[in-house]
Amino acid sequence: MISERAKKVKPSPTLAVDSKAKEMKKKGLDVVNFGVGEPDFDTPEHIKEAAIKAIKDGFTKYTPVGGIDELKEAIIEKLEKENGLKYKKENILVSCGAKHSLYNIAQALFGPGDEVIIPAPYWVSYPDQVLLNDATPVIVDTYEKDDFMLLPEALKEKITPNTKAIIINSPSNPTGFIYDEKTLQAIAEIALKNNLYIISDEIYEKLIYDNNKHISIASFSEEIRERTIVVNGLSKSHAMTGWRIGYAAGPVEVIKAMTNIQSQSTSNPTSIAQKAAVAALKGPQDCVEIMRKEFEKRRNYLVDELNKISGMSCKMPKGAFYAFPNVNKILSKLSSYKINSSMDLSIYLLEKAQVALVPGSAFGAEGYIRISYATSIDNLKKGIERIKKALEEIS
Ligand SMILES: *Cc1c(COP(=O)(O)O)cnc(C)c1O
Repeated sequence: MISERAKKVKPSPTLAVDSKAKEMKKKGLDVVNFGVGEPDFDTPEHIKEAAIKAIKDGFTKYTPVGGIDELKEAIIEKLEKENGLKYKKENILVSCGAKHSLYNIAQALFGPGDEVIIPAPYWVSYPDQVLLNDATPVIVDTYEKDDFMLLPEALKEKITPNTKAIIINSPSNPTGFIYDEKTLQAIAEIALKNNLYIISDEIYEKLIYDNNKHISIASFSEEIRERTIVVNGLSKSHAMTGWRIGYAAGPVEVIKAMTNIQSQSTSNPTSIAQKAAVAALKGPQDCVEIMRKEFEKRRNYLVDELNKISGMSCKMPKGAFYAFPNVNKILSKLSSYKINSSMDLSIYLLEKAQVALVPGSAFGAEGYIRISYATSIDNLKKGIERIKKALEEIS
């Protein structure tokens, strides 16, 4: 019999849409995939070369559980230089992707009776990782009018004596919005006052547009840094999703517990991927900027086009590679066609227009859809035309 714990989790809905789209593609159907959660760019050449060199040098054995010193040092240097965060090696854990870092955090911190505050729309894995550790996700809605930021008053209302932590994701998947400094500061103060841990998922840090800047919530003071676990990785910044390297930086006792847990589950992240990650962090960064600029161009194109679709409205996102248009008007128009939810709409668009995208409900936000622009302008154009046509046919 399957355990009660295993019964509580569902497979990642974003991966489910992605695999359904890939399946349709395999069958020869010309699917436009707006469901993807990874850069469409290839991993930069100098990073691949570092991995090839590692293989040739025989760097193919177990490494220390929490990552090689060389990589931890590169991470420490990055966090200090770019985020104003000072850490030592014992504050760092390298894991098999940021998702794995987050899972280690959940294992190290959460248990029965603990409540974890998660602002919605949320990244799909947060609630399930909390559930997997027998703790309770407490979802707090955020709103488009506030750029989907969790406001301090809304946070205060949800805090109970059982609240253990809050998860902040800026830039956000799925909304593409980022927190402003004032709001982050207010959240940090509330967290301090209530002895909460802050889990700050900063994986989209490098993908920020216009003149916006990334601010790590941990950077406000030493006290706040001591309550925060910063999560980051190379997947999104350096187009390295398949390499599985992510990391966490936080208080020594938390990192130590996470490392112990990792030592009993996966052991070290792949040795050759760690060498590639060193090259990614210490090598030239122009590749990151080239990708960012391309994403920005696509965002501008996509959002403009989405706003031309009757009944759809899309606020300009500030980061990541997702647009999160409001489709409430479309849903109320299509209710006579039994399209009542973002899921119904997504299924209709996949079947009718062969465009794959993720319903807002997967992220705890009904009335929205998530469109990834980690795909070429040509594909964006093709997909939008198909969506328009499919919607016109029934309205
Ligand atoms: C992609 C993603 C991650 C996980 O990335 P890894 O590939 O596991 O490093 C974590 N958080 C968010 C919000 C993401 O979109």
